[in-house]
Amino acid sequence: MSSTSALQAADPDIHELVLKEARRQDECIRLIPSENYVSPAVLEATGSVLSNKYSEGYPGRRYYEGQEFIDRIETLAIDRAKALFGAAHANVQPYSGSPANQAVYLALLEAGDTVMGLGLPFGGHITHGLNVNFSGRIYRSVGYEVDRDTHRIDLDEVEDIARRERPKLIFCGGTAYPRIWDFAGFAEIASAVGAVLVADIAHISGLVVAGAHPHPFPHAGIVTTTTHKTLRGPRGGMILSDGTYAKELDRAVFPGLQGGPHDHTTAAIAVALREAATEEFRAYAHQIVANARALAQALDGHGFRLISGGTDNHLILMDVTKRGINGKPAAQALNRAGIECNYNTVPFDPRKPFDPSGVRIGTPAVTSRGMREAEMPSIAAWIDRVVANADDETEIARVRAEVTEFCRAFPAPGIRV
Ligand SMILES: *Cc1c(COP(=O)(O)O)cnc(C)c1O
Repeated sequence: MSSTSALQAADPDIHELVLKEARRQDECIRLIPSENYVSPAVLEATGSVLSNKYSEGYPGRRYYEGQEFIDRIETLAIDRAKALFGAAHANVQPYSGSPANQAVYLALLEAGDTVMGLGLPFGGHITHGLNVNFSGRIYRSVGYEVDRDTHRIDLDEVEDIARRERPKLIFCGGTAYPRIWDFAGFAEIASAVGAVLVADIAHISGLVVAGAHPHPFPHAGIVTTTTHKTLRGPRGGMILSDGTYAKELDRAVFPGLQGGPHDHTTAAIAVALREAATEEFRAYAHQIVANARALAQALDGHGFRLISGGTDNHLILMDVTKRGINGKPAAQALNRAGIECNYNTVPFDPRKPFDPSGVRIGTPAVTSRGMREAEMPSIAAWIDRVVANADDETEIARVRAEVTEFCRAFPAPGIRV
């Protein structure tokens, strides 16, 4: 590990903090649904000399010299993305999921045009029209909600709003929606009102390519995703499309929004896409869903109130207030016990976003460690004990010791402690 020794010699402070973070990731049960463990191969590509290169433009059309290898790397990433997602066009340069969405706006809308997305309090993303985000400040945004009783998206309501508001762009996809997205249903509505449908599959792209969630193609013309959530690649973003707006989208990413692409990330995305095309990854993605279902069932057995009553994907949103605790203190107590999650609003939450009623958890990271359905009841039982004893530091320390011991049996990919 010569690079680690170099870091140690050059900057012991950062070196030590990276080591501590590695140990933390190794010793805790990581349930944040947007997080994962990437493979050693993805880590190696991310930390490579490609970080030294500038390559504004696209393969074969660069503004800097010395691109003979960079062009081949980006072309591999594009070709693998197109093949894996069944897309006619792919752009792998967006720096992350938010810039990928921003590029879609820039490609298709003028300031003041109307965009429609799932409201943030109902599980949408900030880039789908939140008032303090660029998407809600520059564009006119209208939101749809989930049903008050079922917590599911009601396509009749979506259609009513779309017919009334006439958006140019309709986003489907979210960050805290535990159910299947009906891409075909959204496509019908978009086509009826003359809108372009964008499926933002940032959270679920790994499930989609593995067939563990329905595919947005051919229903959505444009698909955006992060590369670091269930897809298990480096931090990055991609735009995939049916090709209709390929030119506009590419121009929006560069030079519309960004300068030079992060070539080290592009290489790591290519590696992750190759991994995601394997039978092993397919099994992994299906296991994520099976684990989430088993975890939801076990939590339900402990009396937790699950939003929408359960899950179809990798994530679970639960209202913990019935257990006499709010989302934030619950998430903090769980973290002290070595169980990492995040507090989250629940649909129609009477509480504020910085101390909401809910906790959001998911199974991508624990599944990457090889945990299966059999392990989920233990995790649910620890969550139950912590929530019931959030003020009892002795009990929390006991859980933490058990969690650390439990994690030893499931080595975290990419981490050597
Ligand atoms: C995570 C996420 C994004 C943004 O990703 P960043 O990489 O954090 O910018 C966009 N859309 C959805 C639905 C997401 O879940």
